[in-house]
Amino acid sequence: MSTVITFFVPGVAEGKAEPDTTRIPCKFCHGAPGNKQCPSCHGMGGWNRKYLNAKSKSLIAHIRSCFERKCPGHMPFTGPVRVSIVARFAPNKGDSKTKWLSEHLAMHETPYVKKPDADNIHKSLDALTGIAWHDDAQIFQTSVLKRYCLGNENPGTEIMIEHCPELIPQRGV
Ligand SMILES: [Zn+2]
Repeated sequence: MSTVITFFVPGVAEGKAEPDTTRIPCKFCHGAPGNKQCPSCHGMGGWNRKYLNAKSKSLIAHIRSCFERKCPGHMPFTGPVRVSIVARFAPNKGDSKTKWLSEHLAMHETPYVKKPDADNIHKSLDALTGIAWHDDAQIFQTSVLKRYCLGNENPGTEIMIEHCPELIPQRGV
């Protein structure tokens, strides 16, 4: 049986910035990633794996807290995971200086073709490693849509996580 979790990260979608020198401990064991006793980080390569600047760190904390509020006590999924991201952006002054355009943007799904890049939004999923799933390698399909907010929608990022263990055959089942 597949399980679907959908949660929302309010605020302007940000891409994950280039890494620098802050060490991020394992969310589970609170130590250096690579602890062989830890179910979450045992396969990781130690501190060198993640160096993040303060902005990325607060982005990651924000995404994690939104997930944890929606799914308190969630145990990380094992096996196949599919992730769909919809990043919604409010029009800025330049986008909606004419009435017809702001009306159009509110009524029709319109691509958002400015920064951040879709792949940088995708990279912010690292925030959920060790919480929503154990390892990024479990994600077998992803999509990122960048578009303007429709109607009364708030800007932010909607993340849908589908856990699909049934897609991998089990012997004897
Ligand atoms: Zn750990």
